[in-house]
Amino acid sequence: MCAVGETYIRAIQRVGGTPVVIPPTALEADWAVLVTHLDGLLLSGGGDIDPQLYGEDSEPWMGQVDAERDFSELGLTRAWLATERPLLAICRGHQVLNVALGGILYQDIAAHVPDALDHAYVATQPMETLAHSVTLNPGSRLAAILGGTTFDVNSSHHQAIKTTGDRLVVTGHAPDGVIEAVEMPAHPFCISVQWHPEAMVKASPTMWPLFEAFVQAAGS
Ligand code: MN
Repeated sequence: MCAVGETYIRAIQRVGGTPVVIPPTALEADWAVLVTHLDGLLLSGGGDIDPQLYGEDSEPWMGQVDAERDFSELGLTRAWLATERPLLAICRGHQVLNVALGGILYQDIAAHVPDALDHAYVATQPMETLAHSVTLNPGSRLAAILGGTTFDVNSSHHQAIKTTGDRLVVTGHAPDGVIEAVEMPAHPFCISVQWHPEAMVKASPTMWPLFEAFVQAAGS
């Protein structure tokens, strides 16, 4: 059993949204209720997704998995995407979105990406610590929302997107080529980032527009 970090809740509150925490045990009957009653879905960070859910056997560097949370979040994500309501995916959520749409992950960046940066950097640092830059596609929604194409971000992940799921396009990379952002161009608001913008909002206003745009889209 896991808990949603306080920083997600405060980031939504900061921009005028009303956070509702969804238990990671939500079942199929709950998904329909949540899809009916919520205005936006934020997929939060957490541990690794079971590789069997994207067709691979577990490699030795895999972290512990939570089958109940995987089932719940993948199902809710697919149900949610049947609507056109806003979805913001962060870190594990970014990976959940990708797997929900048939994408594949690197089970460990260090094991699979030659000369990769240390993306697990903030494991030993405060979460707001900036670890590497990201370069965004100038035509992406995310670049338009954030008002630029290059940002320094935190980094607290050892996995990353290897191949993108259906309808997702890559919109941002780290300097080592690791995918850091994707979005769904055909959807009104489906934005997904590998870093933790919610942990940056207290120290800097850089990521405020992302939460403002998400809550604004959910309220429209
Ligand atoms: Mn990173």
